[in-house]
Amino acid sequence: MQSEGTDAVEQLRASEYRYRNMFAAMTVSFWELDFSGAGRIIYGLRKQGVSDLRRHFVEHPGVVRDLMKASIVLDVNDKSVSQFGAAGREVLLGPVDRYWPVASENVFAESVIAALGGKPYFEQVTRLRRLDGSEFDVLFTASFPRDSVERGILLIGLVDLTDTKRAQDELARVQADLAHAARVSTLGELTASIAHEVNQPLAAIVTNGEASLRWLNRAQPDLDEARAAINRMIADGQRASGIIARIRAMSTKTAPDPAHHDPNTLVSDASLLVQREIETHDVKLILDLAAGLPPVTADLVQVQQVVMNLLVNAIQAMAACEACQEVGRRLTVRTRPDAEIAGVRVEVEDAGPGIEPDKADQLFNAFFTTKATGMGMGLSICKSIIEAHGGRIWARNKPTGRGAVFGFTLPEAAAPSGSSA
Ligand code: ADP
Repeated sequence: MQSEGTDAVEQLRASEYRYRNMFAAMTVSFWELDFSGAGRIIYGLRKQGVSDLRRHFVEHPGVVRDLMKASIVLDVNDKSVSQFGAAGREVLLGPVDRYWPVASENVFAESVIAALGGKPYFEQVTRLRRLDGSEFDVLFTASFPRDSVERGILLIGLVDLTDTKRAQDELARVQADLAHAARVSTLGELTASIAHEVNQPLAAIVTNGEASLRWLNRAQPDLDEARAAINRMIADGQRASGIIARIRAMSTKTAPDPAHHDPNTLVSDASLLVQREIETHDVKLILDLAAGLPPVTADLVQVQQVVMNLLVNAIQAMAACEACQEVGRRLTVRTRPDAEIAGVRVEVEDAGPGIEPDKADQLFNAFFTTKATGMGMGLSICKSIIEAHGGRIWARNKPTGRGAVFGFTLPEAAAPSGSSA
């Protein structure tokens, strides 16, 4: 009996020894985290009646910070010491919040939600902060074995993605350059064809204008000839505007493929597509999505393009504004029911410099841009898309504080035919 007991203790010791060795020698950072303080905060929230934690975190971002402050690093391996630029292991122990930039807060919040939701693990790419304040890209993984979660202990793994990310950034830059070149060359071709088509009627207008002056300037003005020349001018003017209308129709018509969509899914999928821009510019994205919205009829690709364009504009506006850094680059995407058109309203709100009052009318015009390398086509295309969907798009400044709000509406999807009969 005694020897069986001694064996078990030996085995446990050997297993602990193996675990410690692995923990120390891995090329991945490992942290042992005491989560019990954070657990108490969450228990308190639940007692107060908070059932939707994700929503609570969105409405009270300070709570996520508090959870980080209450999550304590108990132990780290050697790799963590070099990865975070620490002089020794002990320096890294303590609350985790100092390693988390604001822009990565939602990843922490999601990992908490995953742990409480009984998921076995959580994994996401994010950015963390070294001790010197510099940030780096990591694959953050947290595993939640039930017995350790019950003891309030979590195991975190951090894989440094700096090199991978650098290669991806380079690839993205080359792709962006290519896309830009393609756009510019299409625009060049378009401009050349517009110039060619419109030049003819314009030249004819000038010729007819000169002719009509000559008929009028005669000692005996020939009013019939002058009238005929002016009529030709009008016809040429109408031809030119017809050409412009045709080109416009050609460039906006992209065979829409409408279907019923959940507006919240549409918006959050579009946000995922600009996740990279969000992280690169240290932006904190807040998805404030109303529950129980009706589906909308939309061409998914086109409307996602609108959302992405508004998000990228907002990110660029905040990136270009140094004063905005102090207040934090918060980007809120809001969905709400809209009574005016019996549908849904989507708003993208930033904390950038806002819109200059004298420019507000021009923002949606084609080729209006205040950016050195801008094309000024984004908002004009957004307007065509939203209006083709039976919605409305607008821009205004935030009523209080700094920032712009771009919003659009989409009508509620009609009930499938036959269902009302
Ligand atoms: P581009 O991005 O190429 O300039 P857009 O049509 O998308 O073209 O935008 C037109 C202009 O509207 C921008 O150059 C900028 O001046 C203004 N604008 C767009 N979004 C914002 C925003 N979120 N905050 C402030 N100004 C904005």
